[in-house]
Amino acid sequence: MNNKIRLFTPGPVTMSTRMLAIGASQLPYNRTEQFSQITFEIIKDLKYIFGTRGNVVIFTASGTGAMEAVIFNFLDKSDKVLIVNGGTFGQRWVDICIQHAIPFEQINLNPGQPISLKDLDHKLSSQEYSTLLINAHETSTGMIYDTKAIGELTQKYGVFFVVDAISTICADIFMMDEWHVDVSLLSSQKALALPPGLSFLALNKKARLRLETKTCQSYYFDIKVYLANQSRGQMPFTPVIGHYMMLHERLREIRLRGIDFFVSRHSTLAEYFRKGMKRLPFNFFSTNPSNALTAMSCPKDIDAFDLVKRLADDYNCFVAPNGGNLKHKVFRVSHLGEQNETDIDFLINALEDILNNYQQTKNHIIMEKENY
Ligand SMILES: *Cc1c(COP(=O)(O)O)cnc(C)c1O
Repeated sequence: MNNKIRLFTPGPVTMSTRMLAIGASQLPYNRTEQFSQITFEIIKDLKYIFGTRGNVVIFTASGTGAMEAVIFNFLDKSDKVLIVNGGTFGQRWVDICIQHAIPFEQINLNPGQPISLKDLDHKLSSQEYSTLLINAHETSTGMIYDTKAIGELTQKYGVFFVVDAISTICADIFMMDEWHVDVSLLSSQKALALPPGLSFLALNKKARLRLETKTCQSYYFDIKVYLANQSRGQMPFTPVIGHYMMLHERLREIRLRGIDFFVSRHSTLAEYFRKGMKRLPFNFFSTNPSNALTAMSCPKDIDAFDLVKRLADDYNCFVAPNGGNLKHKVFRVSHLGEQNETDIDFLINALEDILNNYQQTKNHIIMEKENY
């Protein structure tokens, strides 16, 4: 048993020793001028990584909280929403709309397959939908969509465009304003490599005006209240202060090196993993994989769920299982957080070991049968 824990999961991810040290420090009091200053710097840097001149609000909640905040603040029963559903996270938009009785329709994709822009153009041209909800990257399959091209369509038809970019920003290129995205989301435990618990909602001017036309259906997630408080560097409720201190430092690192550096590092790790996996009998599951994650489908006689468990039990190496129909077929490997090529080699060697063991067990069974 190797003691070093290796996380190849899409959150939480391995954090740097620098972040861990900040996380272990005493918290400052937040109703102070210094804390306001920190908040201003955080907001400025968040705008930079979203690629927006609009505004960003900060929630103490995991990413799903920010998703629900979209519905509370920007949608009501007078809307008709179109949802791209290509997996677990597309389904989450569906579930939240059902929960709040928002009228919607969905485009169901086969997992790991792209959106047909022609079909989408056709649907949006009907002028039937006020809003389009997508995930830039469907983290359950590793499929990254062409948000830029989709943004051209929503722009053409004047459809309000909301993008969950939670597992995209910092791992893959994302340019909110240039791509005509009205609202986009991010959370802390993906490519930012921070603990879970913070999420961010960026909104442009169009979204801000839209806020005025709706009554927020939540007390805790009222964006107008966040905007008012943030304008003086404060949060309406006690924030996760320790995470703020980590976020502040992490965003500073990203600003100093430039976001392109981080995107290309994720791309390098993803390529390295994919190249290394070519010697093993797995297949790549999605047609257009992100830099954030690779979903692998297993050969017929290998159970993906069992493989995931063995990696954890015998190698202290964590990859993500899938749910539903894909549970026994697919597993996912993230390229997020503090991991390097040596860690990836370790994972691929572990996978190879496990496959060899399966083969030996199988041969053994065959031999026993023959001897019988
Ligand atoms: C991780 C993730 C979320 C948020 O999940 P939480 O568990 O609430 O943090 C939402 N959308 C996508 C695409 C994600 O990858």
